[in-house]
Amino acid sequence: MLSPELPGNEVLRQQVLDDQELLDTPADPYLDTLVRVVRELFEVKTVLVSLIDRDRQWFKARLGLEIAETPRSVSFCGHAILGSEMFIVEDTHADLRFCNNPVVINNPFLRFYAGQPLFAQDGQALGTLCLLHPEPKRLSAVQVRQLKDMATLVEGYLKLRQVSQQTEQLRAALSREQRKTMLDPLTQLWNRAGLNHFLPREQRLAREQSRHLGLLFCDLDHFKPVNDTHGHGAGDQALWESARRIAAAVRPQDVVTRSGGEEFVVLTQVHDRQELIQIAERIRAAIGSTPMAIGDMHLNLTISIGCAIAEADEDLEAALERADQALYQAKRGGRNRVEYAREQADN
Ligand code: GH3
Ligand code: MG
Ligand code: MG
Repeated sequence: MLSPELPGNEVLRQQVLDDQELLDTPADPYLDTLVRVVRELFEVKTVLVSLIDRDRQWFKARLGLEIAETPRSVSFCGHAILGSEMFIVEDTHADLRFCNNPVVINNPFLRFYAGQPLFAQDGQALGTLCLLHPEPKRLSAVQVRQLKDMATLVEGYLKLRQVSQQTEQLRAALSREQRKTMLDPLTQLWNRAGLNHFLPREQRLAREQSRHLGLLFCDLDHFKPVNDTHGHGAGDQALWESARRIAAAVRPQDVVTRSGGEEFVVLTQVHDRQELIQIAERIRAAIGSTPMAIGDMHLNLTISIGCAIAEADEDLEAALERADQALYQAKRGGRNRVEYAREQADN
């Protein structure tokens, strides 16, 4: 197997990548959408937005692959970033550089690879937009152009993202090492530790902006039977898709977390109760209104949501508890519904 060499400008390249604050960040619904369109356009099993870090490649967006990263030494994208043009391996079995690569001889049994390098503003290659397939394949000239065009869209998006307020906030709030421990590998949302980190910060920000901190406690309905009937793998995919839909239903500055199993907590700054309920209803519709395509199946899932507004001085555990109680009411009331918590003063 041929491991990728390091580019001549590796130190600078890594610096530019680090400065982007992209590594170990939550999934992004817009990149996820693009990856989905690319997968359908090219009819391949897997599409990735892969970033080449020191010793690994880490996937900022992925569809059709369960893992969040692989060693750089076995990565095809590590080769792709060495050039300026698309890197294509039509059949790994016919290529001495790759025929005994672990990702070729083991899961995911890669046969075809095409990766278009993604460049930052100053020309440094950050990673690739790439296609992976378990059968040999050849791209037409038109397809090569289409993949390049899609990569241009990713580059444009990453450039805009870098100057966004959201990235600024992320940079100010957390180091990369902290971020790593706060990401849920399955859904690429913030995990429970992330929730605990962001809660007091969001409460403070809400106070500063004369808004209220809204808490949405969301729980998928009757999820256990999904695992029991279709298997844990299908359950995992449904969780991943649910995470995508929730993140796409809320606003960019909202904090979406997977607080446990099939439970998600969203932190959102709102003016009033009505606004909070509207956001909750958007999430409910995002899950329930269209079936999820999991493999060959179409899964009809619904979600129940408990809402609460944390008062400026309220203990956050107590506010979460109120949202959880509201969720319990939503479950008792028949599921697939939104319930608003009793006010703090009512307790
Ligand atoms: P309810 O409407 O009352 O919420 O019913 P439910 O079946 O969703 O709730 P219950 O708490 O009984 O079951 C939650 C299930 O979620 C249990 C477990 O099978 C599943 N689950 C939790 N974490 C994961 C995970 O990481 N992957 C998968 N595939 N399933 C998970
Ligand atoms: Mg549930
Ligand atoms: Mg639950």
